[in-house]
Amino acid sequence: MALVLEKRRLDEYLSWLSRSFTVYAPVERDGLVKFDGRSSGDSVVLDYDTTNTPPKFLFLPHGECMLEFKGEKVKVPAVDERFVVFMNSVDAEAVSILDEVFGGEFNDEYYARRRANSIIVAVESEVKMRDSFDEELDLKFKNGFDVLFTDCGDCYLVEAKTAKGKKLMKSDSIKETKKSIKDRRNFIKDRKLDLGKISAFLDKGPEQKIWQDLAKECFACGICAYVCPICHCFDVQDDVKLEGGGCRKRDWDSCMLADFALVAGGVNFRGERHKRIHNWYHHKFARAVSERGRPDCVGCGRCITYCPAKIRIHEKIRECEK
Ligand code: SF4
Ligand code: SF4
Repeated sequence: MALVLEKRRLDEYLSWLSRSFTVYAPVERDGLVKFDGRSSGDSVVLDYDTTNTPPKFLFLPHGECMLEFKGEKVKVPAVDERFVVFMNSVDAEAVSILDEVFGGEFNDEYYARRRANSIIVAVESEVKMRDSFDEELDLKFKNGFDVLFTDCGDCYLVEAKTAKGKKLMKSDSIKETKKSIKDRRNFIKDRKLDLGKISAFLDKGPEQKIWQDLAKECFACGICAYVCPICHCFDVQDDVKLEGGGCRKRDWDSCMLADFALVAGGVNFRGERHKRIHNWYHHKFARAVSERGRPDCVGCGRCITYCPAKIRIHEKIRECEK
């Protein structure tokens, strides 16, 4: 028998969760939907069509203090917060890619402890993300979550996928149902983009005309990387106080920015804009595919929605496929 949460009981369910966890959800504030800690009275939008900040900030916070130092003493700040975060299945898939990046050959303990403290609820609905092209990538949207909510009209079909997720099923708000509920949408998409051809084109390097042309349009502002749920470049700096001591921080960075590959002596490995643009595409659609078997992109469309130059990554990738 299926387990469901009626939509009219969502608020009651979120309040139940809040007794044991911090609850993060897409909430509407000032006309924008953003991921935030939920306060009572918040309007939760589980079927958001975009958010300008992706949920990666919960696992890879911008400005994270990695260690504090004072004199001889060094301390790694504790991370105790246990949280539940609701996101759509496209963003959950992006988290599963971050899990591979940060949990692979180089295990990142800072990322790992936040993931260990988190429970992800993915929400599958008919609402498409603005500018998305997820259906053209070879993705299954079955990864990165502990519980799956499937929008079935007046209720969500609720399924626990992990032991952590089962903890969220014990609420009185979740009931068995005898009524037949609408079949889940089959969200296993057909692959349409030819990643083999795209990778082969990208491997030809940055001196192709497409990158030269794109460099005339692109501002190299890095917004596409900041809003991307998968881009994960960071910079580490010591923030030293005048009175002594301080903290070692890591901030989000972007390989699109002019000084990203600048090293001592003034040498810049990717000083020219077209090389940085090519590198961004190559990392996502060639290197990631050869290293981990799938692109560093889930087609969420944020880099299109928020690009000030109106560049559509999707169309550029199509050009690489020809
Ligand atoms: S957001 Fe647009 S303009 Fe800015 S770096 Fe990315 S592609 Fe270029
Ligand atoms: S590259 Fe663009 S479309 Fe792909 S996951 Fe990142 S923001 Fe979304």
